[in-house]
Amino acid sequence: MTISATPEVGTIAPNSSFAGAIEADAVIIGAGPVGLFQVFELGLLEIKAHVIDSLPAVGGQCVELYPDKPIYDIPAVPVCTGQELTDNLLKQIEPFEPTFHLGQEVTTVQRREDHRFNVETSTGTRFITKTTSRKVNFATPGRPTFWMVFNPPRYFMRLSLRSIGHNVPREDAKWMGDLLGALTPNQIRDAFRAAGYSPEEVEGFARTVEGRISALRAL
Ligand SMILES: Cc1cc2nc3c(=O)[nH]c(=O)nc-3n(C[C@H](O)[C@H](O)[C@H](O)COP(=O)(O)OP(=O)(O)OC[C@H]3O[C@@H](n4cnc5c(N)ncnc54)[C@H](O)[C@@H]3O)c2cc1C
Repeated sequence: MTISATPEVGTIAPNSSFAGAIEADAVIIGAGPVGLFQVFELGLLEIKAHVIDSLPAVGGQCVELYPDKPIYDIPAVPVCTGQELTDNLLKQIEPFEPTFHLGQEVTTVQRREDHRFNVETSTGTRFITKTTSRKVNFATPGRPTFWMVFNPPRYFMRLSLRSIGHNVPREDAKWMGDLLGALTPNQIRDAFRAAGYSPEEVEGFARTVEGRISALRAL
């Protein structure tokens, strides 16, 4: 993504006093093809995005500079125009319901003491971002570790108390236990059924998982 003007990147700002700011999971600066696809990637992680662009329309260079020029180098798309590429990206990200803030340039990006960012635009729209470059907040049920339940070998590896004890802070392991503890017995069994195990194997694995979850929660 290119930055058309250099926003003011200030010194560390206090955590409070950014009046009227929208608390955003993620703020994407630039609604070009890269910014639009970023909405998709974040959406898969259940991170909702606000997208800001100084131009009045989305699409970046593709729409602003060459809407009708054919593009030949998109994988699996033999040919499309700049406008068609943008329209398809918009269709692809529709399920993730991004919020667009067009016709406003980002003028301030300021790191806060809590490592989040204050972002402000030329029209005075303010954001406090939750997701930072150093740390992504996946604290939702969509966190990838949750989905490991559908990959039994990997799931067991991560559930190994020894490996957790070596690699993961204790509070994190407890947190994971609490999260997994929200699974119903049926959900746990469904994961192994979906992997094609016999009813006996499903029951055996599910019991083991339930035991491990209890152990994690008791840490
Ligand atoms: C004439 C031409 C033909 C091209 N043909 C091809 C081709 O055939 N195939 C190909 O692969 N590539 C082609 N390219 C290159 C391609 O268009 C770019 O690589 C692509 O657009 C980059 O996408 P992007 O999202 O990173 O950035 P951009 O498309 O540049 O979008 C960045 C967006 O960020 C916004 N922005 C920047 N700073 C701020 C700010 N501070 N606040 C708010 N908004 C901001 C801008 O307004 C812009 O909309 C061509 C480029 C041109 C100019």
